[in-house]
Amino acid sequence: MTLNDLKKLSGTLGRSEKIPVLFVGHGNPMNAITDNIYSKTWKAIGEKLTVPKAILCVSAHWLTTGTAVTMVDQPKTIHDFGGFPKELFAVQYPAPGAADYAKMAIESVKSTMVHEDFEWGLDHGAWSVLMHLYPKANIPVFQMSIDYAKSPQYHFNLATELSELRSKGIMIVASGNVVHNLGLLSWDGSIKAYDWAVEFDMLVKKSIEENNPVPLIEYQKLGKLAALAHPTNDHYLPLMYALGLRDKTDDFHFFNDMMDMGSLSMRSVLFK
Ligand code: ZN
Repeated sequence: MTLNDLKKLSGTLGRSEKIPVLFVGHGNPMNAITDNIYSKTWKAIGEKLTVPKAILCVSAHWLTTGTAVTMVDQPKTIHDFGGFPKELFAVQYPAPGAADYAKMAIESVKSTMVHEDFEWGLDHGAWSVLMHLYPKANIPVFQMSIDYAKSPQYHFNLATELSELRSKGIMIVASGNVVHNLGLLSWDGSIKAYDWAVEFDMLVKKSIEENNPVPLIEYQKLGKLAALAHPTNDHYLPLMYALGLRDKTDDFHFFNDMMDMGSLSMRSVLFK
């Protein structure tokens, strides 16, 4: 072994690798089985990403009182929607569970009690994206629920407590949408993007570029703009997790930064 080899090796050993954090705009459940720009990008990113030991998904579709993590050995694929074709109901994402890693998540949170859950599996906020990022379904996955009664600030703070998981091989994937107004979707495609949707989306972009999460944590101060972008904030709160987990040394990389059906921003961001 040469001196150079030794240097390389010690460099590798000495560095605890920090796993990236993702916020993914999941949008329409049909993205799971549609070969489109969104799913293609998820696939391409998955091919470039590190293979983590486990994935923790915080999805807009698991809202609870209090916070829980799934502890099941084999999470079921939950088809939590109606009115979609049977092909979508046939999708299975048979990734194993990750109870040991879920325990790590429980232990890392000191400010509140995180409960163990044995009922939930993987909802479509998780699997519709993961099946493209990691199509082999061979990485253990667990979910953490969103305490829906709590403020954006609460979720941001909770996320900071999870940051140590990034150096333990866990990839955190937060899944929602940075603009999400289903009531105003332009079904006929006549509206490409509402002005207010673009305005809110740009605000998210700017805050991330400036690494200033405050306007996003306090988004309700925006009044009407906030209410239009998020009539309910279930799809917004996952963003708080990605922001809270962002390390000051992380680079950011936007992807799928476009509007779907006028009122759905697919903007996603990778922190690494
Ligand atoms: Zn959704």
